[in-house]
Amino acid sequence: MREKIIVVCSECGSRNYTLTKNKLLNPERFSMMKFCKNCNKHTLHKESK
Ligand SMILES: [Zn+2]
Repeated sequence: MREKIIVVCSECGSRNYTLTKNKLLNPERFSMMKFCKNCNKHTLHKESK
């Protein structure tokens, strides 16, 4: 039931991270602060579809 998702920088659109998510536990979309090497700073990252 785990799904691979791509986490995208909301400022530049870089696909910086991938992770797996358990859809049963976390059905909603999420966002988090992560370091973007393209922006060279911490930015808000969101789940890509
Ligand atoms: Zn970025």
